[in-house]
Amino acid sequence: MNADLESAMQCLQAELPGRILLDEDSRFAASYDNLRISRMPDVVVRVHEAADVGRCLAIAHQYGISVTTRGAGSSATGSAVPVYAGIVLDLSALGDFSIDVTTRMASVEAGVVTADLQAAAEAKGLFYPPDPSSKSYSTIGGNIACNAGGMRCLKYGVTRDYVVALEGFLADGSPFRWGLPLRKYASGFNMRDLFIGSEGMLGVVTKAYLRLLSLPAVRWTAMVAFADEETALETGVLRLLKAGFAPSILEFLDRQSVVCAEMRKGQPVFPGQPGSTLLLIELDGMDAQKVAQRGRDLITLLQPSSRSYHVAANASEAESIWQVRRTCSQSMFALGDTKLNEDVVVPLDKQSELLRKTLQLREDIGLATPTFGHAGDGNLHVHIMYNRNDADHVAKAKLGIRQLMQSVVALGGVITGEHGIGLAKSSYFDLQHSPAEIASMQAVKKALDPKGILNPGKMFIPFEVWNEATLNVSMPWDHR
Ligand SMILES: Cc1cc2nc3c(=O)[nH]c(=O)nc-3n(C[C@H](O)[C@H](O)[C@H](O)COP(=O)(O)OP(=O)(O)OC[C@H]3O[C@@H](n4cnc5c(N)ncnc54)[C@H](O)[C@@H]3O)c2cc1C
Repeated sequence: MNADLESAMQCLQAELPGRILLDEDSRFAASYDNLRISRMPDVVVRVHEAADVGRCLAIAHQYGISVTTRGAGSSATGSAVPVYAGIVLDLSALGDFSIDVTTRMASVEAGVVTADLQAAAEAKGLFYPPDPSSKSYSTIGGNIACNAGGMRCLKYGVTRDYVVALEGFLADGSPFRWGLPLRKYASGFNMRDLFIGSEGMLGVVTKAYLRLLSLPAVRWTAMVAFADEETALETGVLRLLKAGFAPSILEFLDRQSVVCAEMRKGQPVFPGQPGSTLLLIELDGMDAQKVAQRGRDLITLLQPSSRSYHVAANASEAESIWQVRRTCSQSMFALGDTKLNEDVVVPLDKQSELLRKTLQLREDIGLATPTFGHAGDGNLHVHIMYNRNDADHVAKAKLGIRQLMQSVVALGGVITGEHGIGLAKSSYFDLQHSPAEIASMQAVKKALDPKGILNPGKMFIPFEVWNEATLNVSMPWDHR
C-alpha cells in the first residue's frame, strides 16, 4: 500500500467509523458488474447517510485516491468496476424516499431500488415509467448515472425525462444542488442534465427529485408473429408508427432469439408458429373501451402482413407474453457461454438494414447474433455469443463487434442508447465522436474533477475487454 493510500485509509477509519469494509468478501462483491470483469478495490466505503459521501470524497481528493461509485453493480459496461482499485463508494444503503401527491414528485435517495419506487408510486395511483429490465435490483442513482431506459421509453421517455433536480457531492467533497423540486427553474447552466448519464465521472448523486405521472388504468397486450425480421420491422413497426399508434411497449424478437427460447422451452413460444419473428406490443390508457378499440384497430392494421396474433385476455396472459422476452434473453447462452450485449440505436427506417447486417455478420464470423429490443425507439440489443475460452471465438467476436459499431455509426446511429460507455464501449468512442467533441468532454471532466479521481479508466481510455488480465471466468457471478 503506498503512503497516500495508507494516509487516506487512516482518515477514512477515523472519520467514517462503521462504514469501512476491508474483508475480501466485501471487496470482491464490489469488484465487478454485469460485464463480468473483476478488479479488487482496496476498500469499500458503505455509506449510511448522504454526508458520508462528502467526507469520503474530501479524503480521496486530498490524497488522490480513485473512487468508483456503486449502486447495485448491474451495469452492462463495466462502468462500476474499480479498474484502478482505490475506494468503492457503495450507496446501496441510501434507501429513503417519499412521494408528494400534490406536486407529483418523489424525493428519492440514490440507493433506492427502481421497482420499490415504482410500487410505492402505484400504491398512490402514480407512475414512475423508466423500467430497465434490471429494475428489481438497479438503483435510482445508477439509473441516473447511466440515463437508463427500458421497454416503455417509446411512449414515456428515459430516466432523464423524469429528473427534476439532483443533490450530491463534487469530486472534492463540496455539496451541489442542481435544481430544486420546483416545476420551473431557469438559474444558471443546466448542470443537472450534464450529470445525468455521466457514469459517476463528474460527481456523486445522493438524492434525486423525480417527476411522477398518473398511473394508466388499463393495459392491452398482444404478441404478433411475422415470417421474418424485415416484414416485422417494415410492415409491423414502421406501419403502426406511421399510422399514429403510440404503444407504451413495442418489442422486437428476431428468429435467432425466438429459436433459443423454443429450444429451452421445448415448444414454440407462439403456438402453431415456430421460429417466427415476434413483436410484443402494449397499449395503455385511462379508458378501457378506447384502449380496446385501439387494440382492435392495431390488429386490423398488422393482420395482413403477419402470420398470426394473440391478444392477452387478462393480466396473467400478458405476463406470459413478457415471460417470452425474458426467456429469449436467458436462453441465448445455448449459443455460447458469453454474451456481448450491445444496445445500439439506429433511425427507425434503418432497423431492417441493421438486421441484414447482423445476419451477414453471423455468416462472416460464424458466431450467433441473436437480436431483440425496443424497436419503437430504434434501440436494438444485438448480441454476439461466443465461448470465452476459445481464442478463435474471441478474435471473431472482437472483429464482429467493431464491424457492428462501424455499421451503426454509418447508418446514422449511436453505439449505445441506454447502457452507456463504461469500459465495454470505450474502444468505439472515437467512432461516434470527433476529436473536438471528445476534447470538450475531457475539458468538462478536468474542470469538475481536476485530479481525475472519479471513476477513472472509463469512457476516454480504449479498453481491451478481451485481453484484460483481471478477467476471471470461474468467479461466482451473480447476475441474474
Ligand atoms: C439483466 C439486466 C438487464 C438490464 N436491462 C436494462 C435495461 O432494460 N435498460 C437499461 O437502461 N439498462 C439495463 N441494464 C443495465 C443496468 O441495470 C442499468 O445501467 C442500471 O441503471 C444500473 O444501475 P445500478 O444501480 O446497478 O448501477 P451500478 O451498476 O452500480 O453503476 C452504474 C454506473 O453508475 C455510476 N453510479 C451509480 N450510482 C451512482 C450515484 N449515486 N452517483 C453517481 N454515479 C453513480 C457507477 O459509478 C457506474 O458508472 C440491465 C442490466 C442487467 C444486469
